[in-house]
Amino acid sequence: MTSKTLSKSPKPTEKDIELEAERLFSKGLGDLGYSEDDLLRCAELTWKINALKRERNAVIPAHVYQRAEILHGVADFIGDSYKLARLCQGNSAELIIFCGVRFMAETAKILNPEKEVLLPAPEAGCSLSESIAPEDVRRLRAEHPGAPVSTYINTSAAVKAESDVIVTSANAPKILSKLFETHKKVIFLPDEMMGKNLAKALDKKIGSELIVWKGSCIVHENFDASSIEYYRKIYPGVKILAHSECSPSLVSLVDLVGGTGDMMRYVEKTKAPHYMLITECGLGDLARTKFPEKTFVPMCRLCPHMRATDLKAILRALENPRPSSVIEVPSEIAECAKRPIEKMFEMAEDGAAL
Ligand code: SF4
Repeated sequence: MTSKTLSKSPKPTEKDIELEAERLFSKGLGDLGYSEDDLLRCAELTWKINALKRERNAVIPAHVYQRAEILHGVADFIGDSYKLARLCQGNSAELIIFCGVRFMAETAKILNPEKEVLLPAPEAGCSLSESIAPEDVRRLRAEHPGAPVSTYINTSAAVKAESDVIVTSANAPKILSKLFETHKKVIFLPDEMMGKNLAKALDKKIGSELIVWKGSCIVHENFDASSIEYYRKIYPGVKILAHSECSPSLVSLVDLVGGTGDMMRYVEKTKAPHYMLITECGLGDLARTKFPEKTFVPMCRLCPHMRATDLKAILRALENPRPSSVIEVPSEIAECAKRPIEKMFEMAEDGAAL
């Protein structure tokens, strides 16, 4: 399907821009350090994007790691990979402008083949997704016959198509423990750190019971476990939450390990003098705007892939998208990839066995 191109962007008046800047300020962007000029600059773009979005019957899902002006200015729904995949399904919009990275936009396309899906920054990849190819999965299967392949959602459509079930950081422990009820050996890919964390949580041996791949996230692999003790000393009572893509040595020292949704729920439900979110910086910014009464200790890194999307790229995708922004998944791959994604929904929500 080809994108409708050259939609003419409506022009806001000065008053429209002022009101839009006030709306952005009310969402907490001022507290994140956006100056008046920043807000006015963003407001002109968010106003145009929102007007074009209505005109083109488009929807904008945004991952929690996206820039704050995207999350608060133009996103229709915000979430982790699982939530976004779910919310893209059954949405009545004809066009999905996916603010995230390529594997997420591909998942949206697989689940919504009749819709047009655009990735505003077509270069937005993911080090985990790029660490493994479909032939690697076929080779692992041949080396470990009978072992089911559980695959992290951070993978290409072609790798998903070779898998038995997709998992997210939040539901991986539940789905893998289900798999171990009926299998002695399970393959988990591509995140080696997460695989090691899962092996520890499920009391399984790496190499004989849980087979892992050697991929890593360029953001989470770099957090240093040695600083945790220092932070606990200078921020007494701090609750430290880490993403499950972090190293096992770091994970063993924190109060919660999980996905971004788990981290946000923990912050919401607990009372602590300080919180530290060890993950991409976007989540900390989102937490600061959602829980302005809570205090957050900075400890985050930027993901260059997640930061590739900005308001100008979103406007361009609506007005005149680059051909590389149009997400296409060949139907034979999409059909095979849809099955393990749906298996994840089934196993995560109902606990069905594989
Ligand atoms: S934060 Fe890591 S896992 Fe997420 S998109 Fe960036 S490289 Fe990939």
